[in-house]
Amino acid sequence: MPLQEVAKIWMDGELVDWNDAKIHVLTHGLHYGTGVLEGIRFYDTPNGIVVFRLTEHIERLHKSCKVMLLDPPFDVKQLVEATKDTIRVNGERAGYIRPLVYRGYGEMGLNPLASPVNVSIAVWPWGAYLGDESITKGIRLHVSSWQRISDNSLPPSAKTTANYMNSALAKVDALRAGFDDAVMLNTQGQVAEASAMNIFIVRNGKLYTPPLSSGALRGLRRDSVITVARDLGFEVTETEMVRSDLYLADEMFVTGTAAEVAAVRSVDDREIGDPGPITKQIYDTMAKAVRGELDQYKQWIEYVD
Ligand code: PMP
Repeated sequence: MPLQEVAKIWMDGELVDWNDAKIHVLTHGLHYGTGVLEGIRFYDTPNGIVVFRLTEHIERLHKSCKVMLLDPPFDVKQLVEATKDTIRVNGERAGYIRPLVYRGYGEMGLNPLASPVNVSIAVWPWGAYLGDESITKGIRLHVSSWQRISDNSLPPSAKTTANYMNSALAKVDALRAGFDDAVMLNTQGQVAEASAMNIFIVRNGKLYTPPLSSGALRGLRRDSVITVARDLGFEVTETEMVRSDLYLADEMFVTGTAAEVAAVRSVDDREIGDPGPITKQIYDTMAKAVRGELDQYKQWIEYVD
């Protein structure tokens, strides 16, 4: 799906025209993956535009910076305000937000510390990442032959641009094999996550998700779904799992900012089936929570207007 252009992109404190939001070809991050990013969603509601867990996303961006020894020239509050400004100026009422902190133009070579730190924030309209059928029918997943990166190679808890090469290798193989996305196993052979989504299964009415020690990202949707599911009365356990746990799940779904909550209908052609009742209940509750429609989750919502 081609990018839907909007008017302005925030770059280092300035709102510049979309077509002028350019960088030099010798930008350090372009060569060596020395950047970190976030993905955030905003929604149109009758009470105004809301951003889901905006401050926590920006805090995670800062944590990613810390791991990568990037010292962002803007604090969390400034980037939260900059994000709201970028939404306001573009006039879109719903979409995706992509903050990026990266090593810019300075020196070449592997030491990133000699290059400046640049920051940008872009927004654009973005529909269901895994397609409109991801909730009505569910997606088909494939266990990748690519292993998820581990903390002693590329820390998966930092959302570095470099980490996404690992995700992209798995995603492309899955797509070329006719699937929608990949399940990534860690170096121990346990389930970590999908290419850019956390994984949940349902077994005997209980929910299970891989622990963060598996290499799964501390997803904000994952965290929200754990809270929502427990509030709905379900037991949720973080536990190590292997691929056959997925094959034998009663229900399965993935969570992420881009994908939101998406049902999984099969893994390696082992049929799980149509989206199940628990998946639908979680999906429906999350769809309301992210839009600020549920009082008990109002703390997750930040208004733009
Ligand atoms: N895992 C990876 C590798 C991701 O890139 C994402 C998307 N940020 C997720 C999981 C889901 O995280 P979140 O719910 O915070 O979007």
